[in-house]
Amino acid sequence: MKTRNTLETTPAVPAATATVRDDIQPCESENLDRFVTGLVTVLPFLALGLAGWQLWNNLLHVSDLIVLVIMYTLTTLGITVGFHRLFTHRSFQAKPWVRATLAILGSAAIEGPIISWVSDHRKHHAFSDEEGDPHSPHGHGDGVTGQLKGLWHAHLGWIFQHDQRGSHERYAPDLMRDPTIVWINSTFLVWAIGGLVMSFLLGWLIGGTLAAGLTGLLWGGAVRMFLLHHVTYSINSICHVFGNRAYDTSDHSGNVPWLAIASFGESWHNNHHAFPTSAHHGLKRRQIDLSALVIDGLARLGLAWDVKRPKDEQRPFKRPSGAPTA
Ligand SMILES: [Zn+2]
Ligand SMILES: [Zn+2]
Repeated sequence: MKTRNTLETTPAVPAATATVRDDIQPCESENLDRFVTGLVTVLPFLALGLAGWQLWNNLLHVSDLIVLVIMYTLTTLGITVGFHRLFTHRSFQAKPWVRATLAILGSAAIEGPIISWVSDHRKHHAFSDEEGDPHSPHGHGDGVTGQLKGLWHAHLGWIFQHDQRGSHERYAPDLMRDPTIVWINSTFLVWAIGGLVMSFLLGWLIGGTLAAGLTGLLWGGAVRMFLLHHVTYSINSICHVFGNRAYDTSDHSGNVPWLAIASFGESWHNNHHAFPTSAHHGLKRRQIDLSALVIDGLARLGLAWDVKRPKDEQRPFKRPSGAPTA
């Protein structure tokens, strides 16, 4: 029998209710939101053409790749360690300045303000792959067409829709009471643009020329956004259709090894749905999880504590070996 994710309760995620209407966050200006979301989606894609032209003509600077790696690492950690494991699931505690830094870095990833991100993700856990899930790839029709429609919706389509977004008041009341987080949430644009300015400055600093600053903006800004957005979206799409299901969770989450490095450990997604509050998503030696390494590093430095991990006796839903994985 499949069981809802009560294995390790996530106090931050309210229990799913029969009606989902009160859970939905209304959108103040849907058209404007769609326009901005479209820009943020399309511009990095167009910038890829420019980056491709630069590669083709052997004009790529070493500084461009350094800026890309620095900015990708910082903003990805902002999302995985910050938005996801710390703020959504409270899988560890951290010093106030560490919390604020992670919230700012996550905002610079340009995946929306922190309170919206957390509300949507908590709602995803409350209604995983059922009606009410903001981005399930399931329930979009039968056959290959339905599956493709579902993958599209889970990957990208859902960010243009506002009919299943998590209500901030219901799903993130803790963050709405935190003045630092409310401030970082309301100044989202500053951090989003700040990440682009930092890409330019890093390129200029490392490359030594204004041209290197501009190509730093291209690689550390646009290319980085494109890569991180699609890796994040893949957790919602690919990791809810494909992958190994080590745990018999009530959803369709899977562990997808080939996405583990790029996603900084987030693609051990079946483990995550089985143990939502665990700071470690990679639960075996070979399940590389860079975010968990960073959290453990913060703990060793005394900057984080109460790092949650599942204990052996908390794993009763593990499939018996040889059980079907569908
Ligand atoms: Zn999921
Ligand atoms: Zn989660």
